[in-house]
Amino acid sequence: MTLPWLSEDDLFIKHTAERFAHDKLKEGYQARSLEHHIDRDLLRQMGALGLIAPTFSEAYGGIGASSLVSGVICEAIAYADLGMSYMCMTTPLIGGVIEKHGNEEMRQEVLPRMAAGELLVQLGLTEPRGGSDAANLIVKAQKKGDRYIISGEKASISYGDQAEMMLLFARTDQDAPGARGVSAFLAPLDLPGVTCTHYDDIGTRPVGRGSVFFDDVEIPETALLGKEGEGFTKVMEGFDLSRILIALQCCGTAQASVDETWEYIQGREAFGRPLAKFQGTTFPLAEHESMLAAVRALSHQTLMMRDKGMQHTSEAAMVKWMSPKWATDIIQNCLVLNGHYGYTTELPHQQRMMDVMGLQIGDGTAQIMKTIITREKIGSIGVAYK
Ligand SMILES: Cc1cc2nc3c(=O)[nH]c(=O)nc-3n(C[C@H](O)[C@H](O)[C@H](O)COP(=O)(O)OP(=O)(O)OC[C@H]3O[C@@H](n4cnc5c(N)ncnc54)[C@H](O)[C@@H]3O)c2cc1C
Repeated sequence: MTLPWLSEDDLFIKHTAERFAHDKLKEGYQARSLEHHIDRDLLRQMGALGLIAPTFSEAYGGIGASSLVSGVICEAIAYADLGMSYMCMTTPLIGGVIEKHGNEEMRQEVLPRMAAGELLVQLGLTEPRGGSDAANLIVKAQKKGDRYIISGEKASISYGDQAEMMLLFARTDQDAPGARGVSAFLAPLDLPGVTCTHYDDIGTRPVGRGSVFFDDVEIPETALLGKEGEGFTKVMEGFDLSRILIALQCCGTAQASVDETWEYIQGREAFGRPLAKFQGTTFPLAEHESMLAAVRALSHQTLMMRDKGMQHTSEAAMVKWMSPKWATDIIQNCLVLNGHYGYTTELPHQQRMMDVMGLQIGDGTAQIMKTIITREKIGSIGVAYK
């Protein structure tokens, strides 16, 4: 796929990511998918190549690259292994919030280690009572002298029981409704009173999800990002980025199934000729190519809008609902085009389908994305909760 808007430097990073994905990730994808932990050695290798946090400034372990570069990397890594590409999506999101709103000591302590693939930081927003209405959270952070006491449960958190820290969203003002009473903290997870669990997911098992319980956990007041009551808006800025990166992750994973299926239909025969002679096999693949090219182009456009400081909330929501849904459908179709082989665990299609499906939910469902697009288009008249 020709992407004429990428510069020479962008293309160099793209090729680096593609080479790493091909040489180090492709072959072990299926075996790694059965594990319950991310391969930390591979993460460090990705970090050493600058593939985890290119957008961080050089002072914090990045190269000050554009968001577009992050997107290109996400797609290249996800082509070989969606799970491994999670770090290329969550690190610019979480690290971006820390870089913009954290204090200097916090930035120096965590950002270079995140970029190097040595430190896993999870995002703690969702709670057991629901994730779509995320601002209505109830985990409490109560100020006591120079400390905050955290209590409550976060649910459905990626890297559930394997992260070292959490970018935690908790209510500091019990009287302020919704987003206004929410603050953001960077909380270590090795403190007394923290317990993490692990869910048995159907896809992206090495990333994993889990609940994190805070039982009157004390964190210093310096763990607060920015000012009290501003936490929710901080993460929302970040979601405009992660939603586009998710779209490109799903695009990469689906493209791998499409490419392999083009190969398959040329090699396998039925009725005395290659399957590729039948438009019943080629037209669906031609449609998939078209859909992936369209969602990739809109994702890149949206990243370029972000890089230029333009408003892009609506476009980010558009690609976030389209890409995981289309990728799931496309991979399922590729599975069937591979006939009975496609239905085994030997071929990667079933694993890829389960992996991308989770991203129809994570970071907000299609319904929530369409609500955002509606709100951006016609304002609060189109939103039930306003
Ligand atoms: C793979 C994966 C990774 C995740 N990682 C993280 C993470 O790292 N950190 C984190 O904090 N959370 C994470 N989540 C949680 C995720 O953000 C939530 O699951 C998601 O926001 C939906 O919340 P819910 O599951 O509570 O569904 P609910 O909010 O209970 O919604 C249930 C259903 O109702 C629909 N619905 C809800 N409200 C409306 C409405 N107004 N109009 C129409 N339909 C509606 C939803 O679309 C959904 O289909 C992850 C989830 C998954 C699956």
